Amino acid sequence: AIINFGSINIDHVYQVEHFVQPGETLASTHYQTLLGGKGANQSIALAQAGADVRHVGSIHENDASFKQALIKKGVDCRGVKCSEVPSGHAIIQVTPSGENAIVLFGGANQTITAKTVMQALDDTRPSDWVLTQNETSSIEEVLRQAKEKQLKVAFNPAPMSESVKQLPLDCVDLLIVNETEAAAITGKEELEDIVTVFKEQWSHSEVIITLGKAGVMMLRKHEVVEVKAFSVDAVDTTAAGDTFIGYFLSAYSNHTDAKQALRRGCAASAIAVTREGAAQSIPTQKEVDRFLAK
Ligand code: ADP
Repeated sequence: AIINFGSINIDHVYQVEHFVQPGETLASTHYQTLLGGKGANQSIALAQAGADVRHVGSIHENDASFKQALIKKGVDCRGVKCSEVPSGHAIIQVTPSGENAIVLFGGANQTITAKTVMQALDDTRPSDWVLTQNETSSIEEVLRQAKEKQLKVAFNPAPMSESVKQLPLDCVDLLIVNETEAAAITGKEELEDIVTVFKEQWSHSEVIITLGKAGVMMLRKHEVVEVKAFSVDAVDTTAAGDTFIGYFLSAYSNHTDAKQALRRGCAASAIAVTREGAAQSIPTQKEVDRFLAK
């Protein structure tokens, strides 16, 4: 199984003519709520890719329908607790040109404790993987406890923050970063320098750098594996990284060869960027197979 300690957010999306100004009251022309959060997106991508995924997280009981939506996608949510704290959510303004401005409230995502982590890892098996991002509390405990149990640890430090550098990163077996996160974690700007730092300082871990429409690069012990992105007409790149991670990790944790697993991740995320939205843009396995057969 893959145990994902991850955020569940409710995205409140408001269409506006322009971003609201200080002191202004602005009427929105359209409103919808969507299931979001990097954690939930990655769990959905994992489930769609056929993985046995257990989500560990927290949401307010009033929002049980969002948990149901995750379950419907095939995610095991027995580790999703009810919290008295409001659910994590984002207030998102979207302008006609597609720009967005976001207020994020961590809420229930920040109520994961060391005890939650311990309970969730209680009945794991040595072949299990643990995955986490940077949108929930107790990430340090997740990394440490997973390592202690000798589970495989995948870490996607997104959204990047200064606190990431204080984490026990030596517990990580697989780091997955985009270019921005790679630059922040290594303190370098050029890809070449970033790769050099990873090779020198991250020999304990495999590292995947996703490079947007350029594709992806994976640094392994004795090799660098590169896969080009598929050429598609992108309309919305939201959740491209989450889709990649879900599809890659589903294959890789199932012992698919690295290059093949990267290719599946690239195919799935290429499909996702041709569609609007986050979770709703993540393709099914069938769609990915069909895409790869073309
Ligand atoms: P993030 O969404 O985390 O910023 P990236 O932008 O690096 O991550 O995208 C993740 C993966 O999604 C890339 O490695 C690539 O395979 C795929 N992808 C992203 N943008 C495009 C695009 N315009 N065309 C095709 N594939 C893309």
